[in-house]
This record gives sequence, C-alpha cells and structure tokens, in this order.
Amino acid sequence: MADPDSTMNRSDFPILDQQVHGRPLVYFDNAATSQKPQCVMDAITEAYTTWNANIHRGTHHLSQLATAKHEEARTTLAKFIGAEHSREILFTRGTTEGLNMLAFCFGEAFIHEGDEIIVSALEHHSNIVPWQMLCERKHAVLRVIPLNQDLTIDLSAFKQLLNTRTKLVSVAHVSNVLGIINPVEEIIRIAHEHGVPVCIDGAQSAPHLPVNVRTLDCDFFVCSAHKMYGPTGIGLLYGKQQWLEQLPPYQGGGEMIEHVRWSGTTYNELPYRFEAGTPDYVGSYAWGVAAQYMQDCGISSIAVHEQELTAYAEQQLSQIAGVRIYAAAQPKTGVLSFNIYDANGKLIHPFDLGALLDQQGIAVRIGHHCAEPLMDHLAIPGTVRISFALYNTREEIDLFIAALQRAIKMLA
Ligand code: PMP
Repeated sequence: MADPDSTMNRSDFPILDQQVHGRPLVYFDNAATSQKPQCVMDAITEAYTTWNANIHRGTHHLSQLATAKHEEARTTLAKFIGAEHSREILFTRGTTEGLNMLAFCFGEAFIHEGDEIIVSALEHHSNIVPWQMLCERKHAVLRVIPLNQDLTIDLSAFKQLLNTRTKLVSVAHVSNVLGIINPVEEIIRIAHEHGVPVCIDGAQSAPHLPVNVRTLDCDFFVCSAHKMYGPTGIGLLYGKQQWLEQLPPYQGGGEMIEHVRWSGTTYNELPYRFEAGTPDYVGSYAWGVAAQYMQDCGISSIAVHEQELTAYAEQQLSQIAGVRIYAAAQPKTGVLSFNIYDANGKLIHPFDLGALLDQQGIAVRIGHHCAEPLMDHLAIPGTVRISFALYNTREEIDLFIAALQRAIKMLA
C-alpha cells in the first residue's frame, strides 16, 4: 500500500471496474461517499439470507443471533475509535444525525439563555445548523473561530473566545473542503483547561486516519459508515459515559424504555436509551465488517497512500496555468480543492469543469461542499474537489490531469 502506484485492494471494489461515457471510471468523490468492498456487500446479503430477525427481547434463535451480531459490531466500532466501553457508542443514521442528537440532548441538559457554543469557520453545515437551531431555541449564542491566512484554525483567537459562558466546542477533525487536519488535540486541551467539553466531527477523519477518542480526550465524536467503506444510513455518536449519563433521551419509542406506564416512563440504560425503534442491525454488522477490512489494510498505510496521492496530485495540478489550490497548509488527508482562472483572471466555473470531467469518466465534486460560510470567506461560489480512497492510483491522477487540461482548453 505504501507504493502510490499500487493497485492493491482495488479488485475488492467491483464498481470501479466499469466505463463511464466510454472511458474508464476514475472515482475521485470519496469525501462524499466511498465505494464498498465485496466483503461488505457479502455481509449484507449474508444477513438477509441467513439470520435476519428483529433484535433484543427476541427469545428465538435468529433474533438472538442478530442481537449478537449487532452488539459485536458495536464492540468492533468501539475498539476502532478507541472508546473505553461499547456502551459509549450510540448508533445514529450518520454524522448529521449524531450532531443533531447531541445538539438536542446536550442543549436540553446544559444550554440556557446567554450560554455560548463555539464552532470554527470551516465547518460543514451539519456542524453549524444544529447549533444555530439550538441557539435559537435556547436564546444562546454561536461563536465562530476565525481562520488564519493559510486557512488553518486561529488558535489564539480560539483562546480569546473561551469564557465562563462557553458550554461546548464542536469542530471538524478534518475539513471536507480543504483536507487540512485541524489541531484538535490542542483545541481539546485548551477547552478542557476552561472546563469546556469538545465534540469532534470525525466524518472526514475516521475514514482516513487512525482515530483514538481516548488519546484525543474528546468528549464526543461523530462519524458516518458510508465514508468508511461501510453501508449508507448508519453512523455513530461516541460520548464519554459520564457525559452520556447526564443527557436526556433524544427520541421516544421502543428499545429506549425500561417501563412504560400511564403514570410515566422510565428509560433504558446506555446505549439503548438513545436508540429508539428498530436499529439498523444489518447496517451495523456490515459496518463492523468494513472497519475490520480497514484494519486489515492497515489504517496508517491507507493514510500514507492517500497522502502520497494528494502530494502527487498537488504537484501535477500546480503546473496548470491559473490554478488556485485551497490551501497549501499541512498536514492534510486525501482531499484537494481547487479552482482554475483563465488568462484574464476570470474564474472558470467549477460546474463547467465538473461536467466536462464527467464526460471523460472522471467523478469529482463541485460546488460549496456544504460549507457556504467557508466559500464566503474565500469569496468564491465553490471549488472543484478531488478526494482519494485506498483504491485510487497515480495513473488515475494522470488521467484526471489530462482530462482537466482538455476541459480547460474547451472552456478557455
Ligand atoms: N461533517 C463533515 C466534515 C462531512 O464531510 C460530512 C459529509 N460530507 C458530514 C459532516 C455529514 O455527514 P453525513 O452526510 O454522512 O451525515
């Protein structure tokens, strides 16, 4: 895997072996969602063909088997992110639901009028809007950490923002637009010096870097399976047990209760108190298989491979006239955002580039990447974003660069 030309593991992903518009598919939209290895798809088929049954409370064989698979997956994922207990892993529909859940539950327990929550200027809308909604509901205030010139988070400004009204900090581990790995260890340490808990949006870190929530010492962590070679529709919210125990439930229904009487309801223990209704036990099982797959590939090897691809792509891109890459700061994962300006300094619209790249079989993402405040900061309507996974190759970058040059020629 350390060899950037390696196509190791690529054959595990059958979807990649196809032509799009008569050209070999080059899939560079991995920050939006990754493709799935055969073992994950086999796990889903296996679940429905051999052991599907609703979990928990079932006395029959299949139900017990399904319950065991679901809970084993919780343990696998707890280990994957370094959690101390599997009861600290709450299954959600994804990062977005995890952040909404935290905003609601933490907000109900701890946020009052005039309290402050801090996010950074480069967040995904999922790590902005739930906090805005909470602030509106509770008459609290959302504070924003500004960025340095090089688009890194301004840590001295962050220190200035912290005060006795600050109740929570929520920041991305890795920017989905810039690929920059944010100094979250430092942010957590500084926040903790003020007694403030921190939530890390790990949507773009868990798929690409070794993550250990205990080493980070974050209080909450969220991520999505579908960006980690796993299925769509499932994610997790990790919370330190001492925090989760203080939070009220999110939704009411089956699973989350201990007893229901007309006189009132008592709630289940962790983690079930936060998991109303039938959970996605096939999804959790398949995600566990995906996590094991990543571990078998070697997460550090995946990180090195993707970072080498990024460095190569950056070097190739920088030779194209009029290119602007956002941004040069290191360290980075496998995400690269850029724009092209013509000879008159006019932006070639990323939508036009995206359409012409697609015509040549290259899948990239264009637009604001659910980070409109960051686009406003950069004073651009959007970018072209390429993002890598373990199966991408240098040859694909060469195909992409040639396709981009053709597109620029057509549009200039
Ligand atoms: N945060 C970040 C940094 C992301 O990149 C994404 C996905 N683009 C999300 C949150 C939302 O993830 P999901 O759509 O899986 O809920």
